[in-house]
Amino acid sequence: MTQHPALPNPQPGSIPPARVLIADDDVTMGSFCARALAAAGHQVLTTTEVDGAITALRTQGPFDLLLTDIRMPGRSGLDLARIAREIDPAIAVVIMTGHSSVATLHASLRRGVADYLTKPFELDELRIVVDQALQRRHLLQESLRLRALEQLLHSSEAINAILDREQLAREIISRARDHVPSEAGFLFTAGSDDQPPQVFATPPGATIQPAGREAVAQSLHAGRPLPVTGAEPLALADGRPLSQGLAVPLRAQGEVIGALLLCDSQRALGSPGAVEILALLAHQAGNALRNAQLYRQLDTAYTGLRELDRLKSEFIAIASHELRSPLSLVMGYARMVRDQSQGDQRAYAERVLAGAERIKTIVDDLLHLRDLDRKQTRLNLEPAALDALLRQAVERLAPSAQQKGQALRLVEPESPLPMALDREKVLLVIGNLLANAIKFTPQGGQIQAEVARWPHEHLAAAVGQAVANPSLRRLSGPPPPAWAVVRVQDSGIGIPRERQGRIFERFYQVASSLTREQGGVGLGLAIVCDLTTLQGGVVWVESAEGQGSTFSFALPLPEEQP
Ligand code: ADP
Repeated sequence: MTQHPALPNPQPGSIPPARVLIADDDVTMGSFCARALAAAGHQVLTTTEVDGAITALRTQGPFDLLLTDIRMPGRSGLDLARIAREIDPAIAVVIMTGHSSVATLHASLRRGVADYLTKPFELDELRIVVDQALQRRHLLQESLRLRALEQLLHSSEAINAILDREQLAREIISRARDHVPSEAGFLFTAGSDDQPPQVFATPPGATIQPAGREAVAQSLHAGRPLPVTGAEPLALADGRPLSQGLAVPLRAQGEVIGALLLCDSQRALGSPGAVEILALLAHQAGNALRNAQLYRQLDTAYTGLRELDRLKSEFIAIASHELRSPLSLVMGYARMVRDQSQGDQRAYAERVLAGAERIKTIVDDLLHLRDLDRKQTRLNLEPAALDALLRQAVERLAPSAQQKGQALRLVEPESPLPMALDREKVLLVIGNLLANAIKFTPQGGQIQAEVARWPHEHLAAAVGQAVANPSLRRLSGPPPPAWAVVRVQDSGIGIPRERQGRIFERFYQVASSLTREQGGVGLGLAIVCDLTTLQGGVVWVESAEGQGSTFSFALPLPEEQP
């Protein structure tokens, strides 16, 4: 085998320099062509045997062009051309032939296998045919590249849809082997906090060898795809040693998270096309692997949180249930003592009772939430007037407002609002909103409660300005023609807009429980939200810090009777 280094191309701007393999048993002819092509700027390798040419194609490739004599000792140049195309489908082939063999060649030419040159030929003829063949190779390569990119897009979609790590690893290897035909593929994943490093292989029996691991380490070190031809086998598949390889690092957000190694027993895998396509696939694969890892971590964290939430709910359910009986006992005896005593003793009993009442409110709230969680809350609908219920709630809470010197005003609707309601639950909702308004409004403040009939458009406009909360999701369904809307407005401390979405969550309080002046455990609005939703309604808040808040809830009104 003889190397003919490229000479400076005397015609700049013509065909770009190519790698050419010349196979001719006639040494003089071979070196004549080699010199001519080297003078045109190409890098040339010559051989006098078919086997030598095949070895060169497999191990010293990729070549852009094969120039072969049709008559070679042992095997025909046409066989060599076929094998060269199997190794690299885009390789350009030019066959040199004598007049007598032109007929044999015609069949191959018609199949588009090769260009040909009839011996003897002029130097210019050689250059023209080689240039044309290289030109065609360039076009063929481009179209193969476009096809490969199209397939890459499909591969990328396929791997991005998989979140299971093992399934994803196998899909990446199989896609890589589709793009770069190879007998075995391995995917190495770097270890993470929750996962040791792993090696996935296809076909399943394939095993990686120390030289394969070394090739991967080198490609990781170099930070780019690395074609390898191992002196030792890189891997074994079905007992066959695989010594040709292409290793590619896998990265996500700049961090190396693994590597891919493709191996073959015969073909050299490092053609520029293969390297480019594998580098692109590796980019997609790295990100897909990272996404799968994040998804798994998220899933584990979510499962942990769900378990924690279940334990919390169970604890609350048990604790509140167990508190109820002793609390009834305390309240019962405290009432008895109060009724049977005078003076200081009576006052002490009153205080015990007031404290126990506060505990009872919390226990009741916890039990409401438990029932809502277990979907055990039943609606007890009966004909009732919402305006009457609002009046009742205002009267019940008037003494608390009075104690703080607040003006509590009720605005009656223009006409009564009869509808089917669960009275107890609606009273609980209004009671919570009024109690909060009183609690979060300073001494001497203003509180106003009103109820009115709103057309749907009016409600949609008001809700459209509000910060989202779970109850508002139901507005995506078909709306009723009108709503009964209760609004509780106060001149209190207000709520910053960024907190307004969270106040309907359980146990959420704007001020930390350590610094806040008001009592409460942060369950009232969660109950308001759940109970309103249960009755087909919505709740929302409009508020400005330091200026006051308006909490509103709306229940759907039945169609008006003509
Ligand atoms: P709690 O009143 O027991 O703290 P809630 O669920 O009823 O719990 O309310 C949650 C939080 O929302 C309150 O802690 C408070 O920070 C805020 N909040 C509720 N109503 C008002 C209001 N009218 N004005 C200002 N802040 C309010």
